[in-house]
Amino acid sequence: MYSWLEEELEQRKKAGLWRQMKIAEGLPTPDKIIIDQRPMINLCSNNYLGLAGHPEIKKAAAEAIMRWGCSATASRLMAGNTELHQKLETKISEFKETEAALVYPSGYMANLGIITALVGPDDIVYSDRLNHASIIDGIILSRADLRRYRHNDLEHLEVLLKKTEDHRGRKMIVTDTIFSMDGDVALLPEIISLARKYDCLVMVDEAHATGVLGVKGRGAVEYFGLEGKIDVQMGTLSKALGAQGGYVAGSKQLIDFLVNKSRAFIYTTGLSPAMAGAALKALEIIKQDTSLKDKLWQNVSYFRQKIVEAGFDIGQSQTQIIPIMVGNSEKAVEFSQLLCEEGIFTRAVRPPTVPEGQARIRISITASHTESDLEKVVQVFTKVSQKLGLLEGR
Ligand SMILES: *Cc1c(COP(=O)(O)O)cnc(C)c1O
Repeated sequence: MYSWLEEELEQRKKAGLWRQMKIAEGLPTPDKIIIDQRPMINLCSNNYLGLAGHPEIKKAAAEAIMRWGCSATASRLMAGNTELHQKLETKISEFKETEAALVYPSGYMANLGIITALVGPDDIVYSDRLNHASIIDGIILSRADLRRYRHNDLEHLEVLLKKTEDHRGRKMIVTDTIFSMDGDVALLPEIISLARKYDCLVMVDEAHATGVLGVKGRGAVEYFGLEGKIDVQMGTLSKALGAQGGYVAGSKQLIDFLVNKSRAFIYTTGLSPAMAGAALKALEIIKQDTSLKDKLWQNVSYFRQKIVEAGFDIGQSQTQIIPIMVGNSEKAVEFSQLLCEEGIFTRAVRPPTVPEGQARIRISITASHTESDLEKVVQVFTKVSQKLGLLEGR
């Protein structure tokens, strides 16, 4: 009946691009994952601080359910706005040092909702080539003119800005802060200077940086000391904060505007009370205690040093996200399968998620990994890559 479905799937399989979900059996310890009844070291989690299983956060989520139930029951503008949502948004704005904040049911929806509200067909969005898919989807849905600049290449960005200097509509530069497949960091101070020079709004996606970068874990904006200089700061509650949901922080005016205009906010059920409660508690915990973040960075530097010494190419990574570059898609899949057999859970990341010819094993280090976990990872990577002939000529 749907022969084209079968054909396209067949093509994907042949090209080594087949995607399949694995079942994770519970969350026994934050750094392990059980698949097919085998516990493995988990290198695929965005649970950077181990907060998803934190007892106080689980308790906060359970308490929120007991008080407000499982569903917000309606959109926020109808009956779905609880005291917990307001508290969470106040907390986020304090954390981000902005006037106000707003939460969405996911980071993906936040990007769609923010971008489609702020720009339309008469406007231009300048977007880093490696920005997250949800940013790209937001721009496409907004029907704004999408101008992609080469990754972190601000000369290229300026060429594009110069070309469109006389454009009369709105202009906005959007960038991830920590890039999700490469683990490098956007050159925010330079981006802000360009935005000033060419009169553009700036929007940053702090999904991987929230809870991770900066002395207080507030993200790249804190790391670079740019508080008050970014128009739109979005991020997720689903990664380091161990809950679920997306947020945007900025001026009171921006938030009022989104409440009135952002379809992905208006036409969807409010964030579940459990997740609002969990995220609120997570923000309290990271404010009081920076030890988890410190442990994360200790693990990152330990692992980076060992894996580079072992001869692996980790691209431009500067953070907890570390790509192990492989190149060929099929080889990356084989690599990941062999790692799995040795008790290390990774996934191969292939096109279209990353550019053609840049398939890789993308790993993320968390605060929950132990030094002996990380040591084992380096040993197994070395063994498996020798088997595959990957380190030859390096
Ligand atoms: C994960 C991610 C998102 C989406 O956030 P969710 O809460 O998972 O929907 C958006 N942007 C970036 C850069 C991300 O890594």
